Amino acid sequence: MTSPLCIALLDDDITLCAFMSEVAQTAGYRTVTAHDGRDLSTLLAENPVLLVLDLAMAHMDGIEVIRQLAMARFSGRLVIVSGHSAALLQSAKLLAELQGVRVAGVLTKPIRAERLLALLQAPELLTVTPRTSPVISLDDLARGIENNELLLHYQPQVRLADGAWVGIEALVRWQHPQHGLLYPDAFIVLAENGGLALPLTRKVIELALNECVCASDALGFTGTLSINLPPVAMTDLSFPEAVVAAAAKVGCKAEKIMFEVTETSVPPDVAKALEILTRLRLKGFALSIDDFGTGHSSLENLTHLPFSELKIDLGFVRVAETDTAARLIVESSISLGSELGLSVLAEGVENEALWRWLRSAGCALAQGYFIAKPMPLEQMADWRVEWDTRRLALSC
Ligand code: C2E
Ligand code: MG
Ligand code: MG
Repeated sequence: MTSPLCIALLDDDITLCAFMSEVAQTAGYRTVTAHDGRDLSTLLAENPVLLVLDLAMAHMDGIEVIRQLAMARFSGRLVIVSGHSAALLQSAKLLAELQGVRVAGVLTKPIRAERLLALLQAPELLTVTPRTSPVISLDDLARGIENNELLLHYQPQVRLADGAWVGIEALVRWQHPQHGLLYPDAFIVLAENGGLALPLTRKVIELALNECVCASDALGFTGTLSINLPPVAMTDLSFPEAVVAAAAKVGCKAEKIMFEVTETSVPPDVAKALEILTRLRLKGFALSIDDFGTGHSSLENLTHLPFSELKIDLGFVRVAETDTAARLIVESSISLGSELGLSVLAEGVENEALWRWLRSAGCALAQGYFIAKPMPLEQMADWRVEWDTRRLALSC
């Protein structure tokens, strides 16, 4: 007998969650519930075909949960629930869709059983294939980090004006002994929720610094190395000294290293985050605001924190040609970045039309599959030869 499809419910209102769970069970589903966004990975481990999500929760708001769903490449559908205005629900829906999360509908509180049932009985739900990626345990991840199973792929960043190669972003992968090569969507959320984000980051920094020194020797690469930082790095006061020491050990200059933080990953203790980020800046490291546009306090963070680069989220860039709202977000991010003196990079540049449009819109830098997919460092020399030819054809 096949087990019934699973519906996940995430709402900090315990009574409402119990009510929705009962409705879903009446409709023949199995349910899992949680009342805190930090328990998202537990819900996803059940492979739900639908997640009912409350936008306003105490510890982690629904917008942050949506970002994590996008990162985990959630293959089910989402129902967004809120007591706020219909306009807010619609913008949350747009935000989810721009990040590639499929939305089955929105529900305004108070929730009526018939409306929820109608969404649960939509025929598309039965066609959703639950995610089949392996379920990883925290112990396994700790072991993998310890056993040096993490490795890095690098994605080039180039200047739109002339195609010059100016940087690389280090993106972590895990060569798992049983499951093969795993991408961040399979383990980053687990690392962040399970207290392993700092050990993972230390390993990534160590690997990236060593490999980058090799790259500059072997490839003559003189650009910047970008490294993603998890929120917890901005709560660790010893972090700036630790990276200075790591960089000095391999003889890498701080100016060549850029730390990427996402808007939503700035932790609640803004004062501490500000202290750590400012100290990183003072020590010469560059700071980039990653996934710009998906957070909720964009402007506030930008003016308070010492950033040098703004990376426009790929969810907006990829659809900028066809979606008016996304195009406006990209255009206004470019002008905002320029006004604040930041260098603006567009992520997710997937085709030549986007490349040309971004160049004419005044964007400075680009990263995306059109230029190159992330790759092991060994493939970079071949890519550079191929790119140099393509650059010319782009009349850069
Ligand atoms: P991110 O930092 O925004 O990285 C960009 C992601 O977009 C990468 O996915 C990259 O492969 C993908 N990408 C690049 N160009 C294109 C494109 O043209 N089209 C499409 N569809 N995708 C593109 P990846 O490597 O799976 O990484 C996903 C996320 O995982 C990263 O998003 C970052 O938030 C996180 N991550 C990756 N490496 C690390 C790490 O070392 N530490 C931490 N804390 N997070 C990491
Ligand atoms: Mg990044
Ligand atoms: Mg990004």
